[in-house]
Amino acid sequence: MSRNNKNHIFLASPHMSKEGYEQSYIKEAFESNWIAPLGKNVTAFEKEMEEKIGAKKAVALSSGTAALHMALKAAGVSNGDTVFCQSLTFAATVNPVIYEGAEPVFIDSEKETWNMSPAALEKAFQKYEKTGRLPKAVIVVHLYGICAKIEEISSICKKYGTILIEDAAESLGSTYKGKYTGTLGDYGIISFNGNKIITSSGGGMLLANTKNAEEKAKKVLFWATQAREQALWYQHEEIGYNYRMSNVVAGIGRGQLRVLDERIKRKREIYSYYKTKMRSLQGISFMPMELQGEGNKNNCWLTVIQVAKNSPVLPDEVMEALKEDDIESRPVWKPMHLQPIFRKYDFISDKEEILIVNEAMGADNSISGELFEYGVCLPSDTKMAENDMERICNVLITLWKGKEGNA
Ligand SMILES: *Cc1c(COP(=O)(O)O)cnc(C)c1O
Repeated sequence: MSRNNKNHIFLASPHMSKEGYEQSYIKEAFESNWIAPLGKNVTAFEKEMEEKIGAKKAVALSSGTAALHMALKAAGVSNGDTVFCQSLTFAATVNPVIYEGAEPVFIDSEKETWNMSPAALEKAFQKYEKTGRLPKAVIVVHLYGICAKIEEISSICKKYGTILIEDAAESLGSTYKGKYTGTLGDYGIISFNGNKIITSSGGGMLLANTKNAEEKAKKVLFWATQAREQALWYQHEEIGYNYRMSNVVAGIGRGQLRVLDERIKRKREIYSYYKTKMRSLQGISFMPMELQGEGNKNNCWLTVIQVAKNSPVLPDEVMEALKEDDIESRPVWKPMHLQPIFRKYDFISDKEEILIVNEAMGADNSISGELFEYGVCLPSDTKMAENDMERICNVLITLWKGKEGNA
């Protein structure tokens, strides 16, 4: 598939800076022969990220998933522990919980931000306190760039003395009261995977915001570089991982960080464009922006719509019509509590009775289940031109018109 094919529109594809910042950092790495293992770009990327978002310590790693794994270890999660985890997310949020032999408990979403419901979280704490199985950590996600109700979630975690980890893989640059996601919990993680708002071709970062951030970051660096003890020979007292980011990859990341604000601006324009053109289609609604209040901002990584029951069109039909026009779209993440591999774990919702309502998709009537059942992610590629966006809107408008005509 050619990325220069005029007709194809991507959901979100890598968008390098027009200035060529990425290339210049890579060139430097090649010229100094710091291709690997480390080099100037890696530590500079960490420093620049710390400064940009106000994190105490950042550690550059091979992926967002690796960063989550390290965050769990830093939080002291190990075999047999409980971890409360937002259900509506990508599987990479919870897989590292399993790597450590811990047990996830999935928490439903609320409608205002689509993220972890503070009420369901409180309910989970009360249930697990009774059996003496309070969680070691809570993982909240800022899905699609929408910041979760972090203040409420954070104060519940504080009340129970539990560590809060933010999965900010999709929300780099989103803020809450002027503070960046990823710096609002004890630990945060970001991802530079290919489709994220900025990409290093693949990579991630762990952010430590605790009082002992320095010490924790050091420990993560140790685990991520094979847990080699200080000795003249290879001495190992703990299990290690090969999770460090390479110097070439970090060069791309540094270049991309310089255009992050530009990308956010464009992503927000894409969201506004769609909303203006299509808000009147029957049964369509748009993902929430930020919570009301100063300093709250959504990076709008993807624009996501809900196609409600009263719409003449089904979400599948939206995706199908777009595909026919060579336009990529995606369903909303299927919640973890509905995934065959994770179905055996507990799920806590505000709703009293949870029932499967869509057998084909395996969707239930939980908040996260409904967001999944009725959701569609629209192309949010910052490389799109105005006429690409117009073309996308026209596909949907035509689809609605045809259906309303038949009804
Ligand atoms: C992309 C993503 C991850 C994983 O990041 P990788 O860098 O791909 O390992 C984790 N959580 C969420 C919510 C993501 O979207």
